[in-house]
Amino acid sequence: MSDLRIRGAVKRYGPVVAVGGVDLDVRAGSRTAIVGTSGSGKTTLLRLIAGFEAPDEGEIHFGEACLSQGSRFVPAYKREIGIVAQDGALFPHLDVAANIRFGLGRRADGDIHVQRLLAAVELSPTIATRRPDELSGGQQQRVALARALARQPKLMLLDEPFSALDSGLRQSVRDSLCHTLDSAGIASILVTHDQVEALSFADQVAVMRGGIFAQTGTPLDLYLRPGSVETALFLGKAILLTATAGPGYVDCVLGRIPASTRGKTGAVDIMLRPEQVLVHTRPTSPVGRDTRSIAASVTNVRFEGPDCTVGVAIADAAMELTLKLPSFGAPEVGRVLHLVVGGEAHVF
Ligand code: ADP
Ligand code: MG
Repeated sequence: MSDLRIRGAVKRYGPVVAVGGVDLDVRAGSRTAIVGTSGSGKTTLLRLIAGFEAPDEGEIHFGEACLSQGSRFVPAYKREIGIVAQDGALFPHLDVAANIRFGLGRRADGDIHVQRLLAAVELSPTIATRRPDELSGGQQQRVALARALARQPKLMLLDEPFSALDSGLRQSVRDSLCHTLDSAGIASILVTHDQVEALSFADQVAVMRGGIFAQTGTPLDLYLRPGSVETALFLGKAILLTATAGPGYVDCVLGRIPASTRGKTGAVDIMLRPEQVLVHTRPTSPVGRDTRSIAASVTNVRFEGPDCTVGVAIADAAMELTLKLPSFGAPEVGRVLHLVVGGEAHVF
């Protein structure tokens, strides 16, 4: 069992409340992402879990073990929890193999494991004899990962481990790390300020703000049903509108849109993700809906490679919206488009 259970964790540094009362459950073998801006308390929370710091208040349990509660405190080296710090923190005087072997302890088959662990983090076996200062930032970070994996932890804490990697490599290292963690049944908590990384990595995402979790849920839930405008905008682009709520729908400048209104009626604030706005070249009526498409004219187009950002003005509403469209076949400025909303609107 490797279920992590945190209740009411608080950590203060003098007057600064770095972690202000966090509850978290992490199931065995699952993946959690904690996403938040710089200074929101992510690293401090990981340090509490790893055992580098003791909480001022609250409890941390791991499986059957109580790690932190009152005066009880299990030190880091007894926790079966691996951590990869933001800066990797390799031993500068040891070569790569020795750094990784440090994690392995006294195992006789250490060299085989070093090779296997290097492969798991997509590093060439030829770098085993190099020292950390002969590696790029991304390579150092992956050696740190290999060293943490060597200890066969039940839970792996990852503090922005991919931030030094460029985007292509980042994705491939993340994929191979996920594969390695999954096949070893190791649960993980990834801290990141990158929303896309958090949403694509995790089964469970927590949005951290000012030392507390503003919201916790599945990636899809958080993305489509954020609890606040702030969380909505933190997780991606959003179209924010005012609307009038009825039973199971809202009426707004984009017509009538199905929505879970939770009993609300009258004026409400709603959110759509830009990709929910579907664009047609002719007026249309979506199948099964008693609404018509809304005419809008293109005011500007910004090319961004695969996609483009398209500004449109809704004629009847004196309102501008920003859409994301594939850049192939993108409309030109002045063109009239007919907009239909897919899916549901989110009511705040
Ligand atoms: P994040 O990892 O989300 O950027 P941190 O957990 O590093 O955030 O920091 C949270 C807050 O706690 C910040 O205001 C930071 O300045 C403060 N803090 C973190 N570590 C210490 C420390 N050792 N001493 C004093 N303040 C600290
Ligand atoms: Mg940090």
